[in-house]
Amino acid sequence: MLESEMNDLIADCNDRVNAAYQFCYPVRDAALQRQAAADLDAYLEVLGRAKADCQAAQRSDAANVALGMHCFALSVRCFLQMWIELRDDDPGSAWDSLVNSQVNARMAMRISQSFAEQLEGLVRRLDAVEQVVFPAIQFVSPSMVVSGTKCSLCNAAFHECSHVSGLAYNGEFCVEVVDGIKSVDHIALVEHPRDKRCRLTECFERGHVLDAFTLRRTDRSDAISEDGLPRLTAIVLHAD
Ligand SMILES: [Zn+2]
Repeated sequence: MLESEMNDLIADCNDRVNAAYQFCYPVRDAALQRQAAADLDAYLEVLGRAKADCQAAQRSDAANVALGMHCFALSVRCFLQMWIELRDDDPGSAWDSLVNSQVNARMAMRISQSFAEQLEGLVRRLDAVEQVVFPAIQFVSPSMVVSGTKCSLCNAAFHECSHVSGLAYNGEFCVEVVDGIKSVDHIALVEHPRDKRCRLTECFERGHVLDAFTLRRTDRSDAISEDGLPRLTAIVLHAD
């Protein structure tokens, strides 16, 4: 991919993502919102192919820019998904989509100063939506014994290679990957979890176990133990 083609791709990406962003409001028409999501899905494939071309040509800087555009587009796609899932009465999935949107926006911001400046407003709005649309959440964090961690790029034991976690190399982020979980020691209630998708999904109020978001009563027969104590469910780990 030539330099001029890359500049065209950046301009095209901004146009398409900004067009989809116009539908990231709850007042928008539901069918148009779904169409914007489908259009962005198709465009994410275009960005994925552009990144693969740059990677194959070992054009590391261009591959990282393509990665940043992909993260930016994916962030807005997840934001759209959040509004769609709220309409569908599925706040649990909507919360995960918001967190994925925040994570992808912040990943794009790490690529370059130019992405950092461009996405500042989006991240501010996502954080505001978190505060305004969702109630307070009880986060959880598992305390685990792992057999080891490795580098997602070269597969070497982590800290034994020169890659730095969170930085992009030839269009891929370096991630510290857990090799295997030996045991889970305990689950802690925390204020600032590593993964905001890990949370108590139920709460206990006036003798009833309720869904933490909808406040609908749970229909689980084992929600209250024989001695009257609540048994609350939680999401403690995500595979990715
Ligand atoms: Zn490595």
